[in-house]
Amino acid sequence: MIINECNDEMKLWNGLPAILIEDNGEKNWAFFTKIDNDIVVGRFPENDFYSKEQYEKAKENGAFNCYRNRQISENNTMKVVLCLTEKCNCRCRYCFLDAENVGISMSTQVLHKAIDKAIEIAGNRHLIITAFGGEPGIEGELLKEMVTYACKQVAASPVKSCNFSISTNGIIGDNVIDILLENKFKSIYYGWWNPRSTRFSKTLSQW
Ligand code: SF4
Repeated sequence: MIINECNDEMKLWNGLPAILIEDNGEKNWAFFTKIDNDIVVGRFPENDFYSKEQYEKAKENGAFNCYRNRQISENNTMKVVLCLTEKCNCRCRYCFLDAENVGISMSTQVLHKAIDKAIEIAGNRHLIITAFGGEPGIEGELLKEMVTYACKQVAASPVKSCNFSISTNGIIGDNVIDILLENKFKSIYYGWWNPRSTRFSKTLSQW
């Protein structure tokens, strides 16, 4: 397993501590967000990272302690958001990704490493894994692999439970709906275009 982390291999992205999850030259970064103490795994441009000096200063100020001390959440639950793909079947003008069909999807190998890393950090807490994009519904097979692999790995780990959620634009096929139903996805974060403002989003819980 080639996961480089801690100290010299950690970086800072918009003030957030990050570790590298890499396979065969494919680099994905796992960020610890300060908002919900989530971990977000995705591909981000190298030039979005802070300079070495800013990194050193942040390290001195304890920016990476959340990882070292496993202080990920206060409610015994750790959340991880996996950016499965940059591809999307919409073309929203406000898109933060400028999503195009030519975008890149996460490889299965990186997906596995990200899940393994999440399980390792979660310890004996509950785990919630969110599929994010782009539009994760475009990658039905990868979504299925996310669920299958996570369930298998969690069963052999101290993690108390594992639940899934997805952030989607709702333009998804029956195959993806079947995956959500069969695996009892707890939350569907559903966003759509609202002509009066910009966007409206809704969470369907326990459906
Ligand atoms: S649905 Fe989301 S990812 Fe797709 S184009 Fe719109 S904002 Fe971007």
